[in-house]
Amino acid sequence: MARRVAGWNSERHDSRAELHRPQIERLFRDIGLTDCRLLVEDSVHEWAVHHKSKIKTNPWTAGIAGIGDGVPVIVLLRRITAEVRSRVTAGMEIGDFAQEVARIAQPLAFLEHLVLHEAAHLVLTEPSEADCDRWAFQKKAGRFQDHS
Ligand SMILES: [Zn+2]
Repeated sequence: MARRVAGWNSERHDSRAELHRPQIERLFRDIGLTDCRLLVEDSVHEWAVHHKSKIKTNPWTAGIAGIGDGVPVIVLLRRITAEVRSRVTAGMEIGDFAQEVARIAQPLAFLEHLVLHEAAHLVLTEPSEADCDRWAFQKKAGRFQDHS
């Protein structure tokens, strides 16, 4: 049982994808992505460059999805900081999802959205980024719990 610390602001907390691997893999099964591999990397950007991925990334890219060696794969950033999250949500605040951004302010809510967004790239047919966000907000169900 985690002890509450005065002044603790969980919105500043990093989320660590590897810690949540069992919950992420359960989510994959929930949505029918039974053969999806999860990779957790220190830099998604460097991973994508190294593997000559056609997906456009930058040093703050939190996740990508694609097909590698014939199987679906989702690559997530190992340490998802408040800065990484704000770079993603800043784009949403000026778009169609301004109302929804508050739902993913907490690190684990953000992580769930990120995983669902990347999964949408694999589940939907040629989706836009907005299609993936819309699908992720529809499927979001507060699956990830903090066990620390
Ligand atoms: Zn995307």
